[in-house]
Amino acid sequence: DSPLSKRVQRVKPSPTIAVTARAAEMRAAGKDIIGLSAGEPDFDTPAHIKQAGIDAIRAGHTKYTAVDGTPDLKQAIIAKLRRDNDLDYTAREILVSAGAKHSIYNLMAAVLDDGDEVVIPAPYWVSYPDMTKLFDAVPVIVETHQHNRFKMTPDQLDAALTDRSKLLMINSPCNPTGTVYTKADLLALGEVLQAYPRVLVMTDDIYEHIIWADEPFSNLVNACPSLRDRTMVVNGVSKGYAMTGWRIGYAAGPEAIISAMKKVQSQSTSNPCTIAQTAATAALQGDQSCIGPMREAYRERHDYVVAALNAMPGVDALAGLGTFYSFPNVEGAIRKLGLADDVALAEYLINEAQVALVPGSAFGMGGHLRVSFATSMCTLEKAMQRLHAALA
Ligand code: PLP
Repeated sequence: DSPLSKRVQRVKPSPTIAVTARAAEMRAAGKDIIGLSAGEPDFDTPAHIKQAGIDAIRAGHTKYTAVDGTPDLKQAIIAKLRRDNDLDYTAREILVSAGAKHSIYNLMAAVLDDGDEVVIPAPYWVSYPDMTKLFDAVPVIVETHQHNRFKMTPDQLDAALTDRSKLLMINSPCNPTGTVYTKADLLALGEVLQAYPRVLVMTDDIYEHIIWADEPFSNLVNACPSLRDRTMVVNGVSKGYAMTGWRIGYAAGPEAIISAMKKVQSQSTSNPCTIAQTAATAALQGDQSCIGPMREAYRERHDYVVAALNAMPGVDALAGLGTFYSFPNVEGAIRKLGLADDVALAEYLINEAQVALVPGSAFGMGGHLRVSFATSMCTLEKAMQRLHAALA
């Protein structure tokens, strides 16, 4: 008889964090493990942003702020959404939280009831289905295909939506595939949504700046302005500005939903860290030239890693258009080695190649592995050589 709630027992801990922890353990035991499992930039937070945090402490900005974020940060977010995304929001349509993950959590708390369905294209970011379960709602997984560049088609969306559907999760550029939906793709999905007026949409734009597609980034509201009143735009400073540890994310959307999310936040965490809010203001308002060189480094590593993976027997990696992940199909390698599945292959590779990777099943798609290339070229070269040798 467990003291734990049924709700919490339905949820599993983040598998990506588990692999990273396992690699750290093996490293502590003296093994030379290369970790390609982490979901965070290897770059340092740019100096002017760090300085803004230091200045905030010195100036005594160390107390509570408004629950939904400082007026300065909200204005910086409004200006950013206008500048980068051609979107117009007022301060009452913005909520700042402790990371984009927290924004999504607040959203689910604000809109989901027991039995509501949340449509999630797979492979997905690991937290979407488990967070859904935390609110007694039901994840409805839509399996995409590599031959369709891991994009959910309008027909698949139509087939997944029911009268119990409450929320659709869109993540582009996508963790773990690096897939980017074009404006035309989003327009086609938006047309399907017109027939389901009850369905809300969350667009997770966290990898917005890590993109090398032919056309500039757009989200669902850009493609379908008529969906603005039921779309929550979620973004943050973690990935683009190498600020994962500062924990600042935000949501922009219709005031009624934002104010319900704010109520949840006011009764749980209160305001996000005051010092981090000042640093995030500097990130969004300051010189944006720190973003480009990091993006170019990811792109260069992407090109190297995808080519290196495709040269390995039994591995088939699709070129991505953003993020710092590749999601190769490894079914050939699993078969060749006589292993059971992707989990067994990841286990084999951490032991034989001493490279830590996350099995695709953690993202809702077996037969694949996720390779993070948010690490130096020199480390990536060593890792690819080891993987190649272990699979040859
Ligand atoms: N959304 C996606 C798709 C992510 O990959 C991540 C981080 O891994 C997040 C959201 C969370 O970002 P944050 O650090 O702002 O909570």
